[in-house]
Amino acid sequence: MSRMRSLNEDPPVESGSLGDHRFTGYRRRLIEDIRGRGIDDLEILQLFDQVPRHLFLPEGVWNRAYEDAPIPIGYHQTASQPSLQALYLSILRPQETERVLEIGTGSGFLTALLATMVERVYSVERIRELSSRARKALDELGFLNVALLVGDGTIGWRKYAPYEVIVVSAASPSIPKAFLDQLADPGRLLIPIGSKDAQELVLVRKEGGSTTEEPVHADCTFVPLLGRFAWKEELSGGVE
Ligand code: SAH
Repeated sequence: MSRMRSLNEDPPVESGSLGDHRFTGYRRRLIEDIRGRGIDDLEILQLFDQVPRHLFLPEGVWNRAYEDAPIPIGYHQTASQPSLQALYLSILRPQETERVLEIGTGSGFLTALLATMVERVYSVERIRELSSRARKALDELGFLNVALLVGDGTIGWRKYAPYEVIVVSAASPSIPKAFLDQLADPGRLLIPIGSKDAQELVLVRKEGGSTTEEPVHADCTFVPLLGRFAWKEELSGGVE
């Protein structure tokens, strides 16, 4: 199922040129932590063994790369908590032939997990530097099936729509209309909805021309989705 050139052709991962063996024990512990949070789908747990998270993070935080915690990646952003990403994947269960749109590339780690599962991943990030860093890590690992775009993800990515799966990794006050328009039928969308301080994960299903919304997880905290159809960027702050 892996779509990583080098990792696929030259297992095990630990013997690769990236010095991953240093992190093997930590990775195993992370998988146990994720399992401890109630995710026991082996196929999903294995992904966390296959994709080295540290390569998606700034070197200064590599010592924390395999903690089950959100990690700062600069520009006021964080890489999401791995167990939350595992939850995303276990709710969405992306299938090999599905097209996935991700809003908020961030570190690119979830992008890589998704790209290991499906044929093609499209991912939008508003901060150019983060997108470039994610590109570098994805290239280093040999992912050939990821398209990245720098821009306002609240308008989706019309060019390759519709998508069977849309994954939103930043919190929004409501569901931007473009996501519903660009969702395939049948299709599913997962998005944190709420205030800037706390959100619930909402699963939207489109089927037979109608959509249903269902809260699937309470009390999560994501960084805000900033853009035309979510929260407006603050005039004073901006990005670093
Ligand atoms: N899954 C990512 C999550 C990163 S945090 C990871 O684990 O690394 C969410 C990301 O969404 C941030 O990088 C932020 O810059 C980005 N973001 C916020 N608003 C956005 C928008 N309108 N369009 C695209 N990306 C956005």
